[in-house]
Amino acid sequence: KANRRFHEDDSVIDIDGVKVGGSHFMVCAGPCSVENEDDTVELAKALKDAGANTLRGGAFKPRTSPYSFQGLGIEGLRILNTAKEETGLPIVSELMGTEHIDEFVEMVDVIQVGARNMSNFDLLKALGQTDKPVLLKRGMSATIQEWLMSAEYIMAGGNDNVIFCERGIRTFETATRNTLDLQAVPVIQKESHLPIVIDPSHAAGTRYVIPSMAKAATVSGANGLQIEVHQDPENAWSDGQQCLTPAEFKDLMQHINILAEME
Ligand code: PEP
Ligand code: MN
Repeated sequence: KANRRFHEDDSVIDIDGVKVGGSHFMVCAGPCSVENEDDTVELAKALKDAGANTLRGGAFKPRTSPYSFQGLGIEGLRILNTAKEETGLPIVSELMGTEHIDEFVEMVDVIQVGARNMSNFDLLKALGQTDKPVLLKRGMSATIQEWLMSAEYIMAGGNDNVIFCERGIRTFETATRNTLDLQAVPVIQKESHLPIVIDPSHAAGTRYVIPSMAKAATVSGANGLQIEVHQDPENAWSDGQQCLTPAEFKDLMQHINILAEME
């Protein structure tokens, strides 16, 4: 079902009124983790002013260490909804397991499947039973073929609203957190009609690399970006080293708006 052979035209996915796919470009920005209501609302307003059309924020966090901050849980989703009320920005948030799927269907606009869960087939099957858009991140050691089959798991259940997200893969290189595989853009777009967005934040793992990769991703023909932004990166509760400041995001967006238009 994900294969272009059975669906020649680009799929356009509707995220509560915001379209992604074909000529529609998604700019999803926000903190790695939702921390509190005031900062989230204020940041969401700045992101919207800068040109973001969707808001990301983690409420359930897949942290490497069990002793790291694990997210605010359902309270985080509630805060994101307040930010949506204030800005109109649809919400993207990660679901880690099937136990909270009903709350996510009710409270978020795009359910993110994280890299660590790309092959959690029970989760993918459960998402296939919903009609929510799903942002399917590429597993850090997954081939593009495996990633396509994960989309197939969701679509097999009847949910066609899948958006791919390339977020860097593990290679021998250690100068960056992961290696951004921009070749995934033409490959996915040849193999599939579904949109693909690029997350340069988790690929880079370090702030200074992000603007150039975001611009390159836009020129590559990707259907959107997902970028981590925090009002005070030095003190962020997760992934601060790779969060842009609102000012840096705004500056980047001036370039992205021009490049996305040219594409
Ligand atoms: C995230 O988006 O904060 C995240 C954990 O991403 P990934 O699953 O790509 O590591
Ligand atoms: Mn993160």
